[in-house]
Amino acid sequence: LDAIRAVEPAVAAAIGAELHDQRESLKLIASENYASPATLLAMGNWFSDKYAEGTVGRRFYAGCKNVDTVEALAAQHARELFGAQHAYVQPHSGIDANLVAFWAVLAQRVESPALAKAQARHVNDLNEADWAALRRELGDQRMLGMSLDAGGHLTHGFRPNISGKMFEQRSYGTDPATGLVDYDALARSAREFRPLIIVAGYSAYPRLVNFRIMREIADEVGATLLVDMAHFAGLVAGKVLTGDFDPIPNAQIVTTTTHKSLRGPRGGMVLCQTELADQVDRGCPMVLGGPLPHVMAAKAVALAEARRPEFRDYAQRIVDNAQALAQGLLRRGAKLVTGGTDNHLVLLDVSSYGLTGRQAESALLDANIVTNRNAVPQDANGAWYTSGIRLGTPALTTRGLGTAEMDEIADLIHTVLAGTTPGTTDGKPSKAAYVLADGVADRVAGQTTDLL
Ligand code: PLP
Repeated sequence: LDAIRAVEPAVAAAIGAELHDQRESLKLIASENYASPATLLAMGNWFSDKYAEGTVGRRFYAGCKNVDTVEALAAQHARELFGAQHAYVQPHSGIDANLVAFWAVLAQRVESPALAKAQARHVNDLNEADWAALRRELGDQRMLGMSLDAGGHLTHGFRPNISGKMFEQRSYGTDPATGLVDYDALARSAREFRPLIIVAGYSAYPRLVNFRIMREIADEVGATLLVDMAHFAGLVAGKVLTGDFDPIPNAQIVTTTTHKSLRGPRGGMVLCQTELADQVDRGCPMVLGGPLPHVMAAKAVALAEARRPEFRDYAQRIVDNAQALAQGLLRRGAKLVTGGTDNHLVLLDVSSYGLTGRQAESALLDANIVTNRNAVPQDANGAWYTSGIRLGTPALTTRGLGTAEMDEIADLIHTVLAGTTPGTTDGKPSKAAYVLADGVADRVAGQTTDLL
């Protein structure tokens, strides 16, 4: 940190403070983790200075042999770890990985001379008529994805995201009675809507998705099945999700982030069957800028870690811990979406405490418990205030916490929420303001520190 402090002390201080905060608080954000020192160091080095547009052995820049080494290694580890036919490790994030995948499916499936021209030339060589033809030829394609309030991600066709603008979009939800994906309703909707792409995968669904059934539905209606496994990639890598629940053998194309349960650097990845490989490899420059060689180096390290036998044990403990946390909350009277969990996350409906998600999130943070508010199905408070709190176990499992500690954490969460009441702003009821009973935050915060 001394080198940074000498240039911009405030940044050095913020890095130190962040390390402190992440070490000393209960990190229950389902999409976060702690990457290993080897992964972090592989990211913070001279590879960051290198440009390497293109693919391994076929670059638009000279001097890329070391980048070729790390990119080829990351792709090899990804293929072998997940049993995928092809891996593309350049996407900078999960959103980028999805965009690459959408374009690849469009390019593979849609007869479009304009797209072929766009791919063959530099974008600057396309004139207005070319762009109009591109919009005309690609414009009426359809995507069916999981709705945001059922647990889907905004890149699965949500209107404010580009995916909701590139495609005519329809979403599927969950059965209001059970909170589970209703495959029959999904199949009916797919038959009627005839999408080009069906997106499976989620950010806030606490159960397993049967990708074999999803593929059968996709095949029946002539759609490509895209699974976004960003959240549960670590459970796939660790062989907790196998057979019908493993996306790789079931979907034609799979996207992921590398930084969530997979415990790698911040980034994305696309895995696909051979038929889609050429189109996926065109991610740069079609969708992405130059790859981030330092992040690809870190992906290679993290994927090598995930291939070790102990990662399977880690993945199983993530699920054991989530189930222990769910049981602990249920025992204390909490209401959980779907009544429990089969994966790494628990969705707690805080309306039974008389709170919004926003109030609960803030009160928990005061007590040193870091979570995020999340919509529950048919959420009456909308996506900003929400009625839920999403809790995930990948990070605390990395810290070595086990099922006994999860029960204590359930108790701490319940204590905070039971000790919180809605507050007012300027004398009026507010969905953000809250009042925590005296002493609760300090007492619970003290106990969180003992746990770590
Ligand atoms: N896909 C899913 C299912 C996610 O949960 C997320 C992240 O929240 C993303 C994609 C986007 O990842 P990123 O934030 O790296 O763009």
